[in-house]
Amino acid sequence: MSRNTELFDRACRTIPGGVNSPVRAFRSVGGSPRFIKRAQGPYVWDADGQRYIDYVGSWGPAILGHAHPEVIRAVQEAAVDGLSFGAPTEAEIEIAEAIAARIPSIEKLRLVSSGTEATMSAIRLARGYTGRSRIVKFEGCYHGHADSLLVKAGSGMLTFGNPTSSGVPVEFIQHTLVLDYNKLEAVEAAFKEYGAEIACVIVEPVAGNMNLVKPLPGFLEGLRALCTQYGALLIFDEVMTGFRAGPQGVQGLMGITPDLTTLAKVIGGGMPVGAFGGRADIMEHIAPLGGVYQAGTLSGNPVAVAAGLTTLKLLAEPGFYERLSEQTRKLAEGLAERGRAAGVAVSGDYVGGMFGLYFRDAIPTTFDEMSECNIELFKRFFHGMLIRGVHFAPSAFEAGFVSAAHDDAVIAETLAIAEEVFAKL
Ligand SMILES: *Cc1c(COP(=O)(O)O)cnc(C)c1O
Repeated sequence: MSRNTELFDRACRTIPGGVNSPVRAFRSVGGSPRFIKRAQGPYVWDADGQRYIDYVGSWGPAILGHAHPEVIRAVQEAAVDGLSFGAPTEAEIEIAEAIAARIPSIEKLRLVSSGTEATMSAIRLARGYTGRSRIVKFEGCYHGHADSLLVKAGSGMLTFGNPTSSGVPVEFIQHTLVLDYNKLEAVEAAFKEYGAEIACVIVEPVAGNMNLVKPLPGFLEGLRALCTQYGALLIFDEVMTGFRAGPQGVQGLMGITPDLTTLAKVIGGGMPVGAFGGRADIMEHIAPLGGVYQAGTLSGNPVAVAAGLTTLKLLAEPGFYERLSEQTRKLAEGLAERGRAAGVAVSGDYVGGMFGLYFRDAIPTTFDEMSECNIELFKRFFHGMLIRGVHFAPSAFEAGFVSAAHDDAVIAETLAIAEEVFAKL
């Protein structure tokens, strides 16, 4: 019996499903998860000592590669001075300044400890600021596990949604409208009907939680215009795309200014840091300046901030995103080419350091198109790659992540292995 399986059996006895976040359990691909012992650069090693080229990257944070020596050193140095104070520190100002300096739409921000907290707080703020209750989200976009966001679309275009989790009372989601990503007409219709009641539209400006779906030309611009017209706030959830899709997130790539932005993942460099920020006049509604309550015992934690700040410093090196994006292009295009050469219907797309691999002919642009991907083929591809030492996300509906440590040799090795696996599909 492998040590991974042994650990999984043991984990299942005290941890529900053996994991502390459900996708890790391999339920959608079958088999048992690899227990990771250590990671370095583009690699992770499991409990059996097997090495994998890693394209999960801790689900996004590991943009510099795992265990970057400068980040590790910063964490060690910060830890020596104490783990948490519950009082302000200079490093918190530095990371806030570093983020605000790079993302122009963020004039003021507050630190939290996860993406979930960031989006939950941003929505409360949007409601507090506008005095309205309704919110708009899109099917297939994930914004963390706050009650009002665990909703899927109802049957009609403007009917209210259904909870995606038991334990979420329908009353808690009755203010959440769930619309189709990339379908601006539906958003127009929603504003026509409920415009004066909508506090905000929250969107992943590039959707990375239904594999990877880019916004169609005009979609984000349309959301911006509608929010402005109706006095609702536009929230870009850049928890995944922030400092990942480009140096200023998707908003920088597209030249669109949201009212509020949520961040996490990369800004913590592998430690628990999230943030929400935006226009100063909105952010000033947060306590202690305003009446919107928001707090956190470990918010701005000095060790976590040290990891994030050092990561942000290293990301500012000239040419960083050009190189990262080029490596990601080589991988995404290379995978699709090898798949097609083997007669498999597969396509690939990418932005910055994230990519999508789709088991269908054309790159999907909507949730429905994404749902048409061949899941059975993906599963076989996933396990074929895994046993040959390449770790992709264990689900057909997750984006993949490339880091600065994925050099040409690593990409070439991945593509050679993929060629072998595609040939067997
Ligand atoms: C990961 C993610 C979240 C949730 O962040 P957690 O840190 O897991 O709570 C929210 N929004 C988006 C877009 C994400 O990718």
